[in-house]
Amino acid sequence: MRKKLIAGNWKMNLNVSDTKVMLNELVKKDLNGEVEALICPPFTSLDAAGEILKGTDIKLGAQNVSEYEDGARTGEISTNMLKDLEVSYVIIGHSERRTYYGEDDEVVNAKIKRALSQGLKVILCVGEDEVQRSENKHEEIVEDQLKKGLADISENIENIVVAYEPIWAIGTGNTCSSEDAESMCKFIRKSISTIFNEEYSQSMRILYGGSVKPSNVKELMGNENIDGALVGGASLKADDFQSLVNFGE
Ligand code: PEP
Repeated sequence: MRKKLIAGNWKMNLNVSDTKVMLNELVKKDLNGEVEALICPPFTSLDAAGEILKGTDIKLGAQNVSEYEDGARTGEISTNMLKDLEVSYVIIGHSERRTYYGEDDEVVNAKIKRALSQGLKVILCVGEDEVQRSENKHEEIVEDQLKKGLADISENIENIVVAYEPIWAIGTGNTCSSEDAESMCKFIRKSISTIFNEEYSQSMRILYGGSVKPSNVKELMGNENIDGALVGGASLKADDFQSLVNFGE
């Protein structure tokens, strides 16, 4: 049985004082214990967030990590630094990192290898853009991202989560239909069985991301192959995040 995961990706939002207000409100709320809740604030808020989430069931994640060890890499953050702050998850290969910072599948693969080798859980983001979808190339694109991103990985594979995030649905309000999201998550599970094996593909969690909100989360989560959501805009307020974890209730 795969435990559902609701992950909030705050992107470059909420400074330290906003983080404290949001999370102090969130930790007082009733959250569905059957669902794993994860908050990924900006690096600058990880320390403050960790202090507030300590002793709760809400996990802490980062939005990116360096593929290198500690050392001369100005502006980067290492796995070591994240672990020091009790971070357990890291998002890798988000489309904004791929598009705006030129992270290709090779870099994504190196980051995943480093994170897994250091015991961090990884949320690997994959997804096609609008043109690729209109040309019916979405499966081909996603399969290629999976094969390259997960190439030559054999250690701690149980710590990998995949998030299907069609780029045209991110931050646009254009949610993928529940049927299309399920169909792509099913396709991803099939690809994972080829990359690793059938048994692992059945236990791996596959999330959907792209304009998920309290009003559509229940329908999306009702699908057999969707094991949770990666949520940007709707994860910034405590009420909304509570509602997401409680599937709209
Ligand atoms: C995201 O950034 O991963 C995301 C899904 O954003 P939004 O929910 O705002 O579309």
